[in-house]
Amino acid sequence: MTYKAPRGTHDVFGNNALGMSLLEQKARGIFQKHGFEELRTPIFEDAALFMRSIGQTTDIVEKEMYIFEDRKGRKLALRPEGTASLVRAFIEHRMDVLTPAGKFFYVGEMFRYERPQAGRYRQFHQIGAEFFDNSSPAADAEIIVLAQDLLFAIGIDKINVHINSLGCQNCRPLFREALVKDFGFVENLCEDCVRRLEKNPLRLLDCKVDSYKFTAVPQMSDYLCDDCKDNFSLVQSLLKSAGCAYTVDGKLVRGLDYYTRIVFEIRSDAVGSQDALAAGGRYDNLVEELGGKHTPAVGFALGCERVLLAAEKTGFFNSLKKPEKIFVAIADQELFNEAFSFATKTVRKGLKSNKDISVFGPVNNKSLTNQLKFADKIKASKAIVFAKTEFENGKVLVKDMKEKTQIEISINEL
Ligand code: AMP
Repeated sequence: MTYKAPRGTHDVFGNNALGMSLLEQKARGIFQKHGFEELRTPIFEDAALFMRSIGQTTDIVEKEMYIFEDRKGRKLALRPEGTASLVRAFIEHRMDVLTPAGKFFYVGEMFRYERPQAGRYRQFHQIGAEFFDNSSPAADAEIIVLAQDLLFAIGIDKINVHINSLGCQNCRPLFREALVKDFGFVENLCEDCVRRLEKNPLRLLDCKVDSYKFTAVPQMSDYLCDDCKDNFSLVQSLLKSAGCAYTVDGKLVRGLDYYTRIVFEIRSDAVGSQDALAAGGRYDNLVEELGGKHTPAVGFALGCERVLLAAEKTGFFNSLKKPEKIFVAIADQELFNEAFSFATKTVRKGLKSNKDISVFGPVNNKSLTNQLKFADKIKASKAIVFAKTEFENGKVLVKDMKEKTQIEISINEL
C-alpha cells in the first residue's frame, strides 16, 4: 500500500518552498513598513462563524467547506478564508472596544473543497491583511497598493487591478432589484444562476458559464448613492496619485457576502484561467454582524500558490540565490569529533555573520571516496577534509568540488 497526498493538496518543496518563504519574508517586511502586526488564528473554527460571515448562499458555504464534528459533537470547519477568523479574534479579545484601530496580517493554510486545477487547490496558502476602524478611502487605497507591492516584491509587475463598488445598505438593494428584474428575462440560465437569481443575484455577474449572456445587464455604478459615488471616485483619485493603474470592472462582485463598497481583484495574464492573484475589499458591517462594536474595515488576501505560478513565469525562481554548500569530510576516522566540532562552529559563525552557507557532514564509517561522492550529489561547492598529517600541523584540505583542485589551509584561517 502506498499513500499519496489527498486530492487537491500538494507538498511544497524545492524552489516552491524557497519561493514561498521568500514571499512570506518580503510580505512581513512590507507589512511592518505599513504598520501591520501578525495575528495567528486556529486552522479550524466554529462552522457557524463562516456560514454567518461569508454568507449562506455563497459557493464557499454551500459547497466548499470542510465541516466535521469533534468528539463532543461540535460542528467545526477548516477555515476557508482568513477574514472571518480575524474578525472573530478582534471581537473576542475586545479590540473593537479597547484598541479598534488595528492593522493585522496573517499567513497560513486555507481549505476549500473545489475542483482542483492549476492554481486551484483544496489546501492552499494565503497571505492577507485586515485594516480595522478606518472608513477613509485612504485605507482602501493603501490596501490595494499594499497588495500590489507584495506582487512587485517578487518580480510580478504585469498585473491588472480591477476595482468596483458594491454600494452600501442604502443603494445596493435597488441594484439587486434591477438585476432580478433583468435576469428574469435571460433564457436558459445555468443551474447555479437559477438558484442565485433567487438567493444572491449579485453573484450572477461573475458566473463563468452564463457571463457571455449578460452583456446589457444593469451596472452598480448607475445605482450608487451620492456617498458611495464620492467614495468610489476618491479611492480612484488616491490610486491614481499613488501611480496605481486600475480598471473599473462593473462585473466584479467577489464570492463573499460581507463586502460593502470597494472590492478589487489583482489579476495576471501569466497564470491561465485561475488568474486572480489577490483580492479583497471593504466590509464595514461584518464586525457588528459578528457581535462586535460597529467597526468599518477593509482587507485583502493573496493566494501564494497562484502568485508563485506567476512568479515562475517571470523567471523569478532563476534569480533565487541558494546558499553555498560546504561538506566537512574525514580522511581519518579518529578525527570525527574534531570535524564535528568544526562543522558546528562553522554553522554558528555563519549564523553570527549572516553568511549564506549550509554545512553538511561529517559522517563516520564511510570511506573518503564515498563521502566526496555524497558531497558531489548534494552539489557542495567545497569539501573540507580532516586528514591526520595536515591536522597535526593545524591544517585541513579544502577541495573545490567543481574545479577538482585542492589546497591546504590553516584551520584558524577558515
Ligand atoms: P478569496 O479568499 O476568495 O477572496 O481569494 C483570495 C485569493 O486566494 C485569490 O485571489 C487566489 O489567489 C487565492 N485562492 C482562492 N481560492 C483558492 C484555491 N482554491 N486555490 C488556490 N488559491 C486560491
